[in-house]
Amino acid sequence: MTSARPAAAPLARYDQLFIDGAFVAPEDGSLVESIDPATGRPWAVVAFGGRRDVDKAVAAARAALAGPWGRMPGHERAALLRRFADLYKAQARELAILETRDSGRALRESLADVGGHSNAYHWWASLADKAAGRTIPFDDSVHAFTSRVPVGVVGAITPWNVPLMAACWKLGPALAAGCTVVLKPAEQTPVTSLELGRLFAAAGFPPGVVNIVPGTGKDGAGEYLVAHPDVDKIAFTGEGATAKTILRAGAETMKRFTFELGGKSPHILFADADLEQALNAATNSAWTLCGQSCALGSRVLVQRPVYDQVVAAFAARAGRVRVGPPLDEATHMGPQAHAEQLAKTLSYIETGTAEGAQLVTGGHRLAGPEHAGGYFVAPTVFAGVSNAMRIAREEIFGPVAALIPFDDEEEAIAIANDTAYGLTAGLWTSDVGRAHRVASRIRAGMVWVNTYRFIRWSTPYGGFKASGWGRENGIEALDSYLETRTTIVST
Ligand code: NAD
Repeated sequence: MTSARPAAAPLARYDQLFIDGAFVAPEDGSLVESIDPATGRPWAVVAFGGRRDVDKAVAAARAALAGPWGRMPGHERAALLRRFADLYKAQARELAILETRDSGRALRESLADVGGHSNAYHWWASLADKAAGRTIPFDDSVHAFTSRVPVGVVGAITPWNVPLMAACWKLGPALAAGCTVVLKPAEQTPVTSLELGRLFAAAGFPPGVVNIVPGTGKDGAGEYLVAHPDVDKIAFTGEGATAKTILRAGAETMKRFTFELGGKSPHILFADADLEQALNAATNSAWTLCGQSCALGSRVLVQRPVYDQVVAAFAARAGRVRVGPPLDEATHMGPQAHAEQLAKTLSYIETGTAEGAQLVTGGHRLAGPEHAGGYFVAPTVFAGVSNAMRIAREEIFGPVAALIPFDDEEEAIAIANDTAYGLTAGLWTSDVGRAHRVASRIRAGMVWVNTYRFIRWSTPYGGFKASGWGRENGIEALDSYLETRTTIVST
């Protein structure tokens, strides 16, 4: 008897870790199936590292610091990074497809995002010989000067929503500064990070400079990395609760930290704004990455005279979002990246309704033939939201926009700042004075005026308050991978 069901494709195999310049089987880790969020079925087998694997990776990273990499002048590190950036560019489409396979992010978004990383690596290469110290005037009895030296071995721990971007934001400055790295991608989306190993090897990086060890956080590679006495810094992107656990665990060995955490960003639309453009940005930002971005303008603050108009436009635009197979380039929005996130989003939608917000559109899992088994959610819009509601205070990480009305500048600023977070904010107005007045009073690490989600390698990015510590991107990021050594020479 023949079956109408197509035979399942064999699982892709990413069953080795990248340690000390080579792909190796895990010693005490495991092999785990990675789930395709568009179908809910496994699509790949991935190696997760255990404690011995992390020990090996950290030892390789430490040894590399003492080897040729540690003595390499900045311009030679720059040349290696440039070669890597070129290989990355040549591979960008394949990387974007893999990123979409693993995370469910719509391919058109993956292409746009991954397409920019090569430029970022080039920019970091241009800074690899610029970490200069200074001389300190004293008197003739001493010569005092500072040197900027790499912080050492970096444990880079990344989230599942933007694996390649988060890796780029850490690897770029860490390598420019002369550090070595053990990269631990999120357990849900480890594949593209492992692919980077091939590119680092092909670019000619000495063994051990970059090591890639997927695994779980708790009771796995993440926890072992944080506790490891030979890791000098943890560069972490993820949730605030995880950051606190890491901070406590890393305190034992007095590590350095940078934390890029969550957000609940206000996106303020004044009635005098170019509403067409503002709506484009506000709706795009609500559905980007299926709502799984730390920078989403998930609280849309709308001035009352245009509130009803904006609610109606949001609903109409939500209806035009093509939600479907993420590898189809016509798709705007893919599924949520994993089952747990799907459940979280649906539960917040129930919360919003129970809190008395008005569900304007969406609010359910999609179940069409092109969605079968996948973690798809309809773009969802809540109106009549008060900033006291949980859907306005907590990070949902799904395609859920909460539209909050306000009367004037003072109220907009008060609502915008009434949050535990402080990552990003956006405001739209045609009044230049108002733009500056409001922007200067918002407690967030990034404020966009008449644009949204414009982020470049050169613009520092990071949070106030519960959104994090330190900055990624910009020369500020380079700084966070350097120590200052002061030398005083008696003359
Ligand atoms: P998460 O905190 O659950 O996991 C992030 C990483 O930490 C994963 O690699 C995980 O395995 C690891 N981890 C978990 N527990 C650990 C432990 N005890 N010790 C060491 N490592 C551990 O976060 P997530 O759910 O993967 O990502 C979503 C979060 O990331 C959201 O809050 C989002 O806003 C945030 N984020 C922030 C930025 C930013 O730049 N600010 C960017 C992307 C995502």
